Amino acid sequence: MLPVIALVGRPNVGKSTLFNRLTRTRDALVADFPGLTRDRKYGQASYDGYDFIVVDTGGIDGSEEGIETEMAEQSLLAIDEADVVLFLVDARAGMTVADQAIAHHLRKQEKKVFLVANKTDGIDADSNCAEFYQLALGEVYQIAAAHGRGIAGLLTTALHPVIEELSALEADTEEEAFAAFDHDGELSDEAQQELENQAIKLAIIGRPNVGKSTLTNRILGEERVIVYDMPGTTRDSIYIPMTRNEREYVLIDTAGVRKRKKVSDVVEKFSVIKTLKAIEDANVVLLVIDARTGISDQDLSLLGFALNAGRSLVLAVNKWDGLDTDVKDRIKSELDRRLGFVDFARIHFISALHGTGVGHLFESVEEAFDSATKRISTAMLRRIMDMAQADHQPPLVRGRRVKLKYAHAGGYNPPRIVIHGNQVHELPDSYKRYLMNYYRKALDIMGTPIKIEFREGD
Ligand code: GDP
Ligand code: GDP
Repeated sequence: MLPVIALVGRPNVGKSTLFNRLTRTRDALVADFPGLTRDRKYGQASYDGYDFIVVDTGGIDGSEEGIETEMAEQSLLAIDEADVVLFLVDARAGMTVADQAIAHHLRKQEKKVFLVANKTDGIDADSNCAEFYQLALGEVYQIAAAHGRGIAGLLTTALHPVIEELSALEADTEEEAFAAFDHDGELSDEAQQELENQAIKLAIIGRPNVGKSTLTNRILGEERVIVYDMPGTTRDSIYIPMTRNEREYVLIDTAGVRKRKKVSDVVEKFSVIKTLKAIEDANVVLLVIDARTGISDQDLSLLGFALNAGRSLVLAVNKWDGLDTDVKDRIKSELDRRLGFVDFARIHFISALHGTGVGHLFESVEEAFDSATKRISTAMLRRIMDMAQADHQPPLVRGRRVKLKYAHAGGYNPPRIVIHGNQVHELPDSYKRYLMNYYRKALDIMGTPIKIEFREGD
């Protein structure tokens, strides 16, 4: 599970600056969905080998009346969903009434909060920061986000306890996963069996109103479903075990269809963190796109997250009913144009409302899962590598030819291929893409990304 860090504070304290420092901004997902009162930005970051999600909650102007109502909506939800809150204050401006109001609120939460004084560059930081201890949130961490100062130390402190907790939970499974590989990177027979027989965790994700609930209900309506309630907060996804075509699934329902309480407002119904966590937890991600609105930047951001997480992927273009042929053509060419970066994923045109095309979705889901967990032998990987090299030689680099020598499997879900050779780090992207496509074709892998790792030497 990815830890979530929320940045909270009044406007202008430097939240965006810190967000940009921590994340690769091009991956930021801006949530301006209908019904959400404030924009929030989500980004992926990594530190010291650990990945996490950063949320910029947008400014809270506590000087207005009623901080409670101001905070009550998006920021409150962001705080609620986060594992760690970084509360930013401005060391130059000093403590304000708004800071006090926000601190008051945060003290009431059972959350790990770190008080961070920004803009400590070029001032006497210690004396400027002293007054912030009055906020009663413990240590004041001094940083200068604009200069990248103090951030590593802050992250070590803020992230460490969360990662310890999360990794304690996952240590056992990870150990098992590694034990399954023999020295060659091949799975043992039992491990392979277990991999293939596990229930497929399928996350149905997408923006509000694209038809996730309708699709989930359609799927559940067609199957004999045993629903059991998993403990969790109202904002967690619901996990629904089901059987289809004699295969076991766990449907990860981000739309909250199976919730007993009626979900009224969109804020509660749609949560980006919930979606990102569902992606993280799934084997296969089913992204639902609304044919009537076309592909949005948010769809692309969600795809980016799924891709980053290495998830198998199936795309469903919903509301395909009752569209004119020219509209359909326009949508298809838009898909071609904008979805080239996930060309391994199958696209289905469906109507969740009428049930058209829904059955075929599962063929692609199965195919994607089977591809992601396919048995790949070292001998096969090596043979394919040799064939690829024979068909199209790697380029010369500074007069010497790059040479690929040895390949073996490095993992599953997604499939990882490790290639050893000389000067492999000099391989141009075009040749890497060529190899990837060659492996994809030769191994008949569809619906999942393939990761190739290059290592220098034999
Ligand atoms: P936000 O409204 O909280 O997201 O704040 P921004 O990140 O937009 O920053 C507000 C202003 O503070 C900008 O002009 C930044 O350049 C400036 N700023 C941010 N971090 C620092 C810092 O570490 N030192 C100084 N001197 N200025 C900073
Ligand atoms: P969610 O927010 O993604 O769960 O979306 P819903 O399932 O609540 O659907 C939003 C709206 O789109 C509802 O009014 C649905 O009836 C409508 N809708 C869903 N699927 C289809 C479809 O296949 N065709 C048409 N025409 N409308 C649909």
